[in-house]
Amino acid sequence: MSRQTRAIIHTQALQHNINVLKTLAPASSTMAIIKADAYGHGALITAQTLQSQVSAFAVAITEEAVTLRQQGITAPIVVLEGPHEPRDCDLAGQHQLTLVAHSEAQLQWLDAASHPVDLWLKVDTGMHRLGLEITRVPVLVQRYRHLLNERSVMVTHMACADELDNPFTTGQTRQIEQLAKKVGLPLSVANSPAMLHWPTTHAQWNRLGIALYGANPVYPTPSGVVLHAAMTLQASIIAMHQVPKGEGVGYGQTWKATRDSRIATVGIGYGDGYPRHCPNGTPVLVHGQRAPLAGRVSMDMLCIDVTDIGQAKVGDRVELWGAKLAIDEIAGYAQTIAYELMTRVSARVPRVLD
Ligand code: PLP
Repeated sequence: MSRQTRAIIHTQALQHNINVLKTLAPASSTMAIIKADAYGHGALITAQTLQSQVSAFAVAITEEAVTLRQQGITAPIVVLEGPHEPRDCDLAGQHQLTLVAHSEAQLQWLDAASHPVDLWLKVDTGMHRLGLEITRVPVLVQRYRHLLNERSVMVTHMACADELDNPFTTGQTRQIEQLAKKVGLPLSVANSPAMLHWPTTHAQWNRLGIALYGANPVYPTPSGVVLHAAMTLQASIIAMHQVPKGEGVGYGQTWKATRDSRIATVGIGYGDGYPRHCPNGTPVLVHGQRAPLAGRVSMDMLCIDVTDIGQAKVGDRVELWGAKLAIDEIAGYAQTIAYELMTRVSARVPRVLD
């Protein structure tokens, strides 16, 4: 029997999530963020699934956008990091990509480019990661007015939108709104947590990533918003062992049997992207029941305690996260965020459409 490890991609969940999220800001245009292979879900299939529901896609770097164009995606694609070198401006012209300029050097490259390129401007309102200095923007808009067109937008990125009691979001929003009014450009502010929890950030364009894939960066989700997991990570039991009380399991023997136990070995490990630092007790699902991780995660396998799941046997399916086990919960066990778990599912794991 072949290895049953796979990431099942629920395209209907993607469509459902985007529809639900769009109802929160019906007047806005929606951009689906499909960088990093659509957060591990597969950029092409995600783009094909959503192209009639969104106004644009966004990726981080030019190479991601060019690949999508070569695969036949014709919708607008915004490159969030803009050009990394002057050659990216030529590629953008050739493939009709929109570049987000965040530095004066990029504006100079765009000015010197041989083809016109649709341009958005990114402004730093306090995250201090990427963005033009806010005080420089009016003069830069004046200087490079000839590079802007009716599709140009001003973007900023929220640093703390997942912290519901943090006033930083309001401050960032106020600054960018004042600036946009002054220079006369439409705005894009909201990412997923802002879309869900900060209505004042909703603008002409909203940029949706993690919520589109069914994870929820901040609990509780606003009432009426039910997101569905777009990925189920699944594997199967490849071996079963009786482990007598007192014996240990796995590298370092970090899990000890407190009773005579049945241990199932599951064919997925950190080489597939399941986090190695998930501790003993992290749940997986077997026959719809929770079974706890027993021992350290290996590269290709992990072990679970199925003593209380009598029918568990070799070949049975195991859900690591997904439709019935929230990825946000597993991220909590792994002391990370759902974004990291999704993007780390490795190339060895086939993506399969349900
Ligand atoms: N906008 C920018 C500039 C980003 O870098 C990202 C993701 O990192 C997003 C939007 C989407 O964020 P989220 O996945 O929280 O919706």
